Amino acid sequence: MSVPVTPEQLAPTASSAFRDALDVVRSVEPRIADAIGRELTDQRESLKLIASENYASPAVLLAMGNWMSDKYAEGTVGRRFYAGCRNVDTVESIAAEHARALFGADHAYVQPHSGIDANLVAFWSVLAQRVESPALERAGAKHVNDLTEEDWAQLRRALGDQRMLGMSLDAGGHLTHGFRPNISGKMFEQRSYGTDPVTGRIDYEAVRAAAREFRPLVLIAGYSAYPRLVNFRIMREIADEVGATLMVDMAHFAGLVAGKVLTGDFDPVPHANIVTTTTHKSLRGPRGGMVLCDSALAEHVDRGCPMVLGGPLPHVMAAKAVALAEARRPSFQDYARRIVENAGALAEGLKRRGAKLVTDGTDNHLVLLDVSGYGLTGRQAESALLDAEIVTNRNAVPQDPNGAWYTSGVRLGTPALTTRGLGTAELDEVADLIDTVLRGTRPGSTASGKPSKAQYTVEDGLPAKVAARAADLLAKHPLYPGIDLA
Ligand code: PLP
Repeated sequence: MSVPVTPEQLAPTASSAFRDALDVVRSVEPRIADAIGRELTDQRESLKLIASENYASPAVLLAMGNWMSDKYAEGTVGRRFYAGCRNVDTVESIAAEHARALFGADHAYVQPHSGIDANLVAFWSVLAQRVESPALERAGAKHVNDLTEEDWAQLRRALGDQRMLGMSLDAGGHLTHGFRPNISGKMFEQRSYGTDPVTGRIDYEAVRAAAREFRPLVLIAGYSAYPRLVNFRIMREIADEVGATLMVDMAHFAGLVAGKVLTGDFDPVPHANIVTTTTHKSLRGPRGGMVLCDSALAEHVDRGCPMVLGGPLPHVMAAKAVALAEARRPSFQDYARRIVENAGALAEGLKRRGAKLVTDGTDNHLVLLDVSGYGLTGRQAESALLDAEIVTNRNAVPQDPNGAWYTSGVRLGTPALTTRGLGTAELDEVADLIDTVLRGTRPGSTASGKPSKAQYTVEDGLPAKVAARAADLLAKHPLYPGIDLA
């Protein structure tokens, strides 16, 4: 008997696995089983262009739904604060082994529950390495637990003075890179580098000048909404020049690194001291985070739990191991290449139709569409597109006059549609759908007749017409083919 291995061969097995699982859930709380079922329908029926989302494989999804979730396992492999962790040890070691091999990292820590948590682990590790080690030396102590109250007081004073230099939010940086709504903005005095006002690209000499003047402890590279490549070799050079630690948050583009589309100067792993990521975006794994670092930081990173994380999620680490194993297959390199080709086709398609793009194009998985050319805010554009079953998210553009809530942009990403199998000609059609909706949308007014940044009107019947065209496109590329919950 041959063993089923391809997704097509496995679909009937996966189908019955999900159906049976939902029957079990239904027997306790039918509304939850129904919501899970409806989510599959919604995902199947919408054109997902959210740059940070994807579709994990059935193997990844199933690895999460089981009793690995029941285990407490604070600590690290072989050094747990709980008994009975041998299977969690197996899972965590395999996930870390795949991560090290896939990214060529000295050390991988696969416990973080999300990208924010991975960044928090990284911040504490860098601070611990810089501050704790001298404190231990001063105190003649071997371990942090041996430090006295006065040592800790000194440590706190030192921590309060730390500085971080990261990309500004409106240029595409992330909240966790030192901004006020996140703890990083309280832990660090922060300064941002933006992008060149003409090209929209990072100006490395401006970053260097800011670093020389500000002398940060941490220089952060990485982004949520920057459509171009980042030269991490230059970033490391700048960090070294001012004595900073280079941290790269590759949450968005980890899949492109794993798939060897980003190599040389554009692969952060050989250049950064510490790299953080999510596992659920272009990497196509379960929701979660991960930290990769050089051996100098490893012991500090491994103290993530219980320093800043709760007990690890063994079921999610199991799913991370499966996703990382998938990403080590040659087909993942093909997938990563197609993500970038598709983003290029989407960008070209939009430009040909007269749309304005931040940086005039893309080199990665995302396109930042400036919707001011259509006379709309990002909020209006996002809502009008959603009416036509096109799911995007509004996003600030550099120096955005509409701020972070209404914005002037819409961020579009191709990892999810590429997973479904859409190709470049179809992304050109997607560009046409977006352009058609936005051309047919007008800004609306508030109840008192003032211009509104949220209200809008769309030509009669247009959303339904576009949604029908999107449905035709998606019908050719079914999501989770063969999985039938009925
Ligand atoms: N870092 C970057 C660059 C991100 O884009 C995101 C999420 O959007 C995160 C971190 C946070 O990830 P999570 O939502 O898993 O905490």
